[in-house]
Amino acid sequence: LLSVRHLSKSYGDHEVLHDVSFDVPEGGVVVLLGPSGSGKSTLIRCLNGLETIQGGDIIFDGSPVDTSSEKEWRRLRNSIGMVFQSYDLFPNLTVAENIRLAPLKVQKRPKADVERQMDALLKDVRLTEYRNAYPRELSGGQKQRIAIVRALAMNPRLMLFDEVTASLDPEMVREVLELMLRLAGRHMTMIVVTHELEFARRVADTVMFLDDGTILERGSAHDFFTDPRTDRARGFLESMA
Ligand code: ATP
Ligand code: MG
Repeated sequence: LLSVRHLSKSYGDHEVLHDVSFDVPEGGVVVLLGPSGSGKSTLIRCLNGLETIQGGDIIFDGSPVDTSSEKEWRRLRNSIGMVFQSYDLFPNLTVAENIRLAPLKVQKRPKADVERQMDALLKDVRLTEYRNAYPRELSGGQKQRIAIVRALAMNPRLMLFDEVTASLDPEMVREVLELMLRLAGRHMTMIVVTHELEFARRVADTVMFLDDGTILERGSAHDFFTDPRTDRARGFLESMA
């Protein structure tokens, strides 16, 4: 579904991604691990057109992306959902208004269709009763599940998650990770940045280990966690244990 070839990204003179290449097959779950500052968020942002890139190609669903075209990225963001660490719900809109905004205004889908899907999604995350609540009335875990639901309401082909549980209290982390595990079980194609290693091991088909802007390792979750090939990855896993 997604191919990245020789992607490079710099901030000024500082190259933060060097020659990054990988593929994400339809239905695959790629977990991106790496130390702080290794470029994980930057890579995720490049895949959603939130950063300009200096080199390389992104091929989505068989077509090369014109990465310099904001119009093209606007179109692609209909198919690529993203959820960040800081739940970015609109504070002045209710849960329901947050969820249906883009499907109605951007995708111009029929209201009844959007409502039906929203009801099903809210039921799925057991938040139906919060439909008319405002984000400030929700817990962090509830907000993050609504942020995920809002992205899913666009019917994305690919979901990008950047440390979506990092600012949650421990007891709320599990409900968000469980939702992501359910999505993976339903064959949602996902790229996931996380520091939750047990979750990573369960959810990933492929693990990529990024170090200083380079993919040092890529392989099955089992191989990566049981027998990392590089000292850097071994050190990273030990530091997280
Ligand atoms: P963390 O685990 O802490 O979230 P990360 O792997 O997501 O780290 P990035 O946020 O992608 O790392 O940062 C990669 C590098 O790019 C770092 O050296 C960072 O200082 C630099 N960087 C990130 N954003 C910018 C920016 N807007 N301007 C300049 N440099 C940046
Ligand atoms: Mg980051």
